Amino acid sequence: MTRGEDLDPKDWSAFREEARRMLEAALDQLEEVRNRPWQPVPDDLPQRYRIGQGGDLVERIERDVLPHHGGNIHPRFWGWVQGTGLASDLIAGMAGAVINANLGGRDHGAVYMERAVIDWTRERMGLPKGASGVLTTGSSQATVIAFQAARVRALPEVRKMGQGAVRLTAYAGAGVHNATRKALELIGVGADNLRQVPSQAGQMDPDALSRIIAEDRSTGAVPFLLVGTAGSVDLGLFDNLNALADLAAEHGLWLHVDGAFGAWTRIADDPWRSLSDGIGRADSIALDFHKWMYVGYDCGLALIADEAEHRAAFAARPAYLEGAESGLAGGDPWYCDYGIDLSRGNRALKVWCALEACGEAAFAAAISGNCALAALMGHEVEKHAAMALGAQVVSNICVFTARADLPADAQSQLNLAIAQALQVSGEAVFSTTRINGTAMLRAAITNHRTREEDVLAALAAVERLAVEFGPR
Ligand SMILES: *Cc1c(COP(=O)(O)O)cnc(C)c1O
Repeated sequence: MTRGEDLDPKDWSAFREEARRMLEAALDQLEEVRNRPWQPVPDDLPQRYRIGQGGDLVERIERDVLPHHGGNIHPRFWGWVQGTGLASDLIAGMAGAVINANLGGRDHGAVYMERAVIDWTRERMGLPKGASGVLTTGSSQATVIAFQAARVRALPEVRKMGQGAVRLTAYAGAGVHNATRKALELIGVGADNLRQVPSQAGQMDPDALSRIIAEDRSTGAVPFLLVGTAGSVDLGLFDNLNALADLAAEHGLWLHVDGAFGAWTRIADDPWRSLSDGIGRADSIALDFHKWMYVGYDCGLALIADEAEHRAAFAARPAYLEGAESGLAGGDPWYCDYGIDLSRGNRALKVWCALEACGEAAFAAAISGNCALAALMGHEVEKHAAMALGAQVVSNICVFTARADLPADAQSQLNLAIAQALQVSGEAVFSTTRINGTAMLRAAITNHRTREEDVLAALAAVERLAVEFGPR
């Protein structure tokens, strides 16, 4: 039997040299990011990634990895809702790599850092002091965690007995993210038991909600959950969260707020801050650090207003994970009692580094600045003879058409062609969405690197392509 050697470098001075080259390459990438737009994936990239080729690792990373990023680090990227990343992620990545913390629980430093990050966020959101939370892969996972807590409140025996024939029903407005539907499917409520409540002037109609709940109750359903949206993914719209909190109290529902990106208006200036007024009255909030706090992927957070309800949904420790008074097995609470995962990475470190390196005020200014740039984009679109907004700019999302004078089909074709051409050329990234069936260009600005000149240059490129591609 051969006994393997450890996998650490045999020649430390050679490894130091290699690591320093990687650090320089990473710093170049950060400093030069404006000049390094995304590049189409070359045909032979899968070949180049085949395992077992050896060669100079850093050289291969510089040639085959760094150029083929997804674009979201670039200042002219506004597709979907993606985060930019931060220079502090590099520092956090180095520190995190060499302690390799497992955040399932136990008593070590990283656990206390996660608590600090959760507590800071809890305060910003205005949740009560006893509230708890757990960092997640993203808002999708945070939503599952929050909904499970809501389900356990509605059916205290559900962890043991399952849901049986009980038909739980949930309620949300029209702009609700697909993560809500998916979470309801996963926890066994079923997508058909998500009721879409009609809205009036972009906000949930309370009379309609009361009517639908009464209908559901009369057919034997058990209404349990109201989902509010703070920042809809399509248009950046916000439910009236104070009104939803009143409705949830009136009907005995758990109020969950999907604040994946929009929750961060809490630290922005008015008028954007007031969009999320009332969020602190929620029973649970799902939000992301990797979108509008710009922190590297991945990091989301499930916040639950009542810690006892959070634990009731997840706590369970088999004998081999038994806690202790002191030592590494000490420390309580353990995060494995607050979510799905047992082994968990050290997501808090990059959030902590970001806030300590840049300061909260810089994030507040960047978030407000993104909203101001979306407003500027909207203003420029309105000034333009041929372009028109598809919807009012409320927060950080601007949806518009390049040629409002064309029939709907021709508009759709043109807008889709423009989005694609700009993505391929590397000039700017818009995604598209449909407004009353017409495909339009959509900029979701969660990008601390975007400047006014980026917005103006991208609109000039849209104008140029509209002439090139459009009917005369
Ligand atoms: C992105 C998003 C989600 C899902 O969050 P992930 O972090 O991608 O899992 C849910 N809701 C809204 C409004 C979002 O924008």
